[in-house]
Amino acid sequence: MSLGGRGHVPLRMCAGCGGRFAKGSLVRFTVFEQSSGRTVVLDRSGSRGRGAYTCLNPDCLEKAIKKRALVSRLRAAAVSPNLMEEFQRVLEERARG
Ligand SMILES: [Zn+2]
Repeated sequence: MSLGGRGHVPLRMCAGCGGRFAKGSLVRFTVFEQSSGRTVVLDRSGSRGRGAYTCLNPDCLEKAIKKRALVSRLRAAAVSPNLMEEFQRVLEERARG
């Protein structure tokens, strides 16, 4: 699996399917401290604190939520209730370019 190209592309694992992808093909999640506890949120800045990733497939996010992969990876109590909506919004923004 040689991609040629120049330089080293750091790969991150999708918490849903377990596949490895370049950072540009992933959405990043981080943890946000709320009074109700640590909550998994979408990380638009791409560099806040501890991170976890899924690829751009909504099924992967759903899987990662269901099997609590994001929660355990980020040591959070729960995922944000509108995480899926935010994810969809990011996908739309990226599709638009
Ligand atoms: Zn995936």
